[in-house]
Formats: sequence, structure tokens, C-alpha cells
Amino acid sequence: MKFTPARPPLTGETLDSLTERLRARGEPAFRARQILDWLYKKRARTWDDMTNLSKPLRAWLAETFDLLPADLVLNKQSHDVTDKLLLELRDRSLIETVIIRAPQDGVGVDHSRKTICISTQVGCAMACAFCASGLAGLKRDLSAGEIVAQLLHVCYREDSLTPRARTELASFDNIVVMGMGEPLANYDALLRALTILNADWGLGFGARRITVSTSGLVPKILKLADEPLGFRLAISLHGATDEVREKIMPVNKAYPLAKLIPAIREFSEKHGRMVTLEFILIEDINDSLDQATALRDIARDLHAHVNLIPYNSVEGLPWKRPSLTRQEKFADVLRAARISVTLRREKGHDIDAACGQLRLKTEKERDAVASA
Ligand code: SAH
Repeated sequence: MKFTPARPPLTGETLDSLTERLRARGEPAFRARQILDWLYKKRARTWDDMTNLSKPLRAWLAETFDLLPADLVLNKQSHDVTDKLLLELRDRSLIETVIIRAPQDGVGVDHSRKTICISTQVGCAMACAFCASGLAGLKRDLSAGEIVAQLLHVCYREDSLTPRARTELASFDNIVVMGMGEPLANYDALLRALTILNADWGLGFGARRITVSTSGLVPKILKLADEPLGFRLAISLHGATDEVREKIMPVNKAYPLAKLIPAIREFSEKHGRMVTLEFILIEDINDSLDQATALRDIARDLHAHVNLIPYNSVEGLPWKRPSLTRQEKFADVLRAARISVTLRREKGHDIDAACGQLRLKTEKERDAVASA
């Protein structure tokens, strides 16, 4: 499921691939770095901004590449600390990128910590029962250039807030690949994008501050464990027994806990860093104390951090978040065993921050306008 645009995005090129393209045109080797410098460091928005390139070269670049394959169509700011960018791609697909200005798991609002959440697919094929992204299935994978474009849009947005100073992407604390889509199902584009994101000629963002979140594609977790860049891993567990997990995550049929847990262990042993287990708390589905006990045992065994996330309700789905008391009781079972645990405070509910919600809504509105 691929979309082939008329011109490939510049944001999908690596230093090597761009050097190669330019060499074929007789350009010197330093030219590629110069162009990427305009794109990522100086934030050129048009080819004509790249003033130290000759006019014929600029014309050739314009014919050959799409400078940025995504347009900002909506910027929704919530009353708390979440900022959501809705981007339209060349085939009119919509994707979401979220800026969270606070600790993901914090109590109280600390504006000093900033996280960016990016998407890797349009829609999702995993069909988790509670998730808005999977409601309409997978439309297509994003290309590396489309993944990277999300981060440039975040830079533009930050630059617009502080017109005098250009914001370094490094001023963000984390980038989490937790937006729409299953990142490990789009492995090659993901890795290429993260390489561009990490490279000094790209956006220069530290690999250790990038977290890839997966619903549990075991072979790809093992592959990621062998990558030289040490990205962090988060697992969407959401059920601490096969019985519960299988009910809400179809992926558990192919990769049940007996396969998933050893893969997480292997990843964490190779990396020497804690893996995060994400656990959405959904009323009467997975919030029993039995589940808490089973989760405690898994986390202890894996030396994993547990991130408890009260469920964000999704229009059209029946699921609810448990009461605060019940959330705390669940967390207490883990705390009592000295498991490292955070109970995430809700953010961005008012801007449809649950994955895929803003996109679904906007697509519906767009379709309504089109058919009117
Ligand atoms: N496919 C990847 C990454 C995208 S989902 C994964 O499964 O990890 C990012 C996280 O948001 C996952 O933990 C997912 O289960 C969670 N999520 C999805 N819908 C949610 C909702 N309505 N409320 C809270 N968390 C949700």
C-alpha cells in the first residue's frame, strides 16, 4: 500500500541519496549538505530561499523534488498543553502530529518538558478494539519524507511562536512514535525517517530520546533490537493475560504473551535501557486487580517501566475510563511491588487527542462538504 507522488519529497532523502542524485547532474559533493542545511537548519520554505544555489540548479530541484510533502490544514490548541497539527498530504490524506508541553506522566503542568508525537501510517491495520486510528482500517503507509515532514512542521510552528529565534528541535525532550499507525508495520520508511531525524545533516535529534511504540510485532521488535541507533521501545500491552489482551488487540493471536515477552526481554537486554509497558485502563475490560497483579509480575520480570493511561473516550466506541479511585487502586498494586509506574494525567481531550480522532472528524466534515 504505497502512494507514489509525482516528485519524491526532499525530506525523504539522506545525505548519501541526495549526493548521488546531484553527482549524476555533475554537482560537487558538498552541494547535498548545502541543500539539506537550507532545509533543516535555515528552514527554507521555497527553493528560491536557497540563495547560494544557482538559478538553473534551483529550477532543476523544483522539477525533481517536492520540498515538503505536507501542508498544514489545521492547528488545534487545547486549553491545557496539547497542540495538534493536522497535515494534508499530496493525495489529500490527513495525518496528525501532536506537541505535548508537559511531562506525559506528570502531575500538574510543567511547561518545560516538551514531547512530539508523530504518525507513521494513514489509518492502521491493527484493529485494536478501543482505538480511533484503526476504525477505518489502513489506508496506506507514510513515506520517510512524510514522516520527517511532520517534524519540520513542528519546527515551523515553534519558529512562528518565537519569530526572532529559530527553535532547535533538540529543545524538545522526546519524540514518540505513538501517533496514527503501527510504526513497525512500516519498518523501512520508519528507520529511514529516524535516521534523517537523528543525523547531523538532518534534524540532529538524539536516538535515545526517540521512543518507538508498537502493538507487539515480535519479528520487528527483534529486528529493531539489532539496529545500531539505540531507539527506545514502548509496548502497548493493555492486557496482562492472553485472555484479556486477545479481546481488545487482535495482534495477540499472532504474537501472544509467550512470544511477546521474550522479545521485549531480548530488546531490553541488548539495549540496557528500560522498556516501557503502556497499559490503557478501560473500565471493566482490563482494570481488575487480577490484571494489576499479572501486570506487576510481567513488569518485574522484564525490569520494565509501566505507564498507566486512563482511556480517552472515542466517539462511537462504548469504552470508558475507570474512576480515579479505581485507577489509583490499580497503580497501588504496582507501587507496592516497587515497580516504576506512572499514571498519566489526561491531556488534550478537548482537541480529540486520542489517536486518529481529529483526522476522522475532519475527513467526515470534508466528505460532508464535498457531497453537499
Ligand atoms: N500502533 C502503535 C503506536 C500508535 S498507538 C502502538 O500500538 O503502540 C499509541 C498509543 O495510544 C498506544 O499505546 C495505543 O494503544 C494508545 N491509544 C489508542 N487509543 C487510545 C485511547 N482512546 N485512549 C488512550 N490511549 C489510546
